[in-house]
Amino acid sequence: MSLAPAGRFAPSPSADLHIGNLRTAVLAWLFARSTGRRFLLRVEDLDDRTFSEIGNRQVDDLAAIGLTWDGPVEWQTGHRERYDAVIEQLRGDGRLYECYCSRKDIAQAPQAPHAPQGAYPGTCRDLTDDERAQRRAETGRPPALRLRTDTFVGTVTDLVHGSYTGIVDDFVVRRGDGVTAYNLSVVVDDAATGIDQVVRGDDLLSSSPRQAYLARLLGYPEPTYAHVPLVLNEDGARLAKRDGAVTLGEIGVDRALAEISTSLGYTATTVDGMLAEFDPARLPRHPWIYRAN
Ligand code: GLU
Repeated sequence: MSLAPAGRFAPSPSADLHIGNLRTAVLAWLFARSTGRRFLLRVEDLDDRTFSEIGNRQVDDLAAIGLTWDGPVEWQTGHRERYDAVIEQLRGDGRLYECYCSRKDIAQAPQAPHAPQGAYPGTCRDLTDDERAQRRAETGRPPALRLRTDTFVGTVTDLVHGSYTGIVDDFVVRRGDGVTAYNLSVVVDDAATGIDQVVRGDDLLSSSPRQAYLARLLGYPEPTYAHVPLVLNEDGARLAKRDGAVTLGEIGVDRALAEISTSLGYTATTVDGMLAEFDPARLPRHPWIYRAN
């Protein structure tokens, strides 16, 4: 049985949601609901910089601004077996290799021929068993697992950005500390829950070719992407807590909704009202500059 199509919002609970994150959540909800999709909420709490109290507050804030979702909130820490099964499948297919590189090793390694700037240079890709044993002894830490890809770039179609081509290198699927990497968990969860529409901040646009590659490799359908503009502070930098009143607790529901609605060119003061005004073709293409005061 195939799952009914769905969109989602998938925050990492490392800090309270700010007005920019709330706006992205509203947009994800508008995209899903305006196309008759289910809407899922997934808290991406795998990383050790994430906290369940923050995740719970994020859920409460999203409910407070009127967003609704289908089914219980999902927490990625409950999905470890799901990720492990996929990692074992990729391992069995000869698609994974151990990587002993530190960030510094990667920065200092010569660029692989034909590889774009910023791609993993392939240092650990073709090590012999002896070389691997030696690297393991030298580094003294457990290796990360990388996906053996067979390309350098990939192209996705994005509802906001059009055709986007970016790096598809041998990216990490499990970190050395055992934590499943973002690119794998997101692809596996989206497929497992019927998500066929990915709406998120455009800071993640550059990750989408890697994710689409992995989805294809695993035989999953590739979702539709919409990477929406971020919210910036008055200096043009990514909005952050130090910019002043930016969280729902600080600015309150009414003002948050009014700011989000105005930033999208709407007059509604509720998310249901925004749904009536929503037109994906008329989305602002530029970052929203937010004055926190
Ligand atoms: N958890 C990611 C973040 O908060 C977003 C993941 C996604 O939407 O694919 O940046």
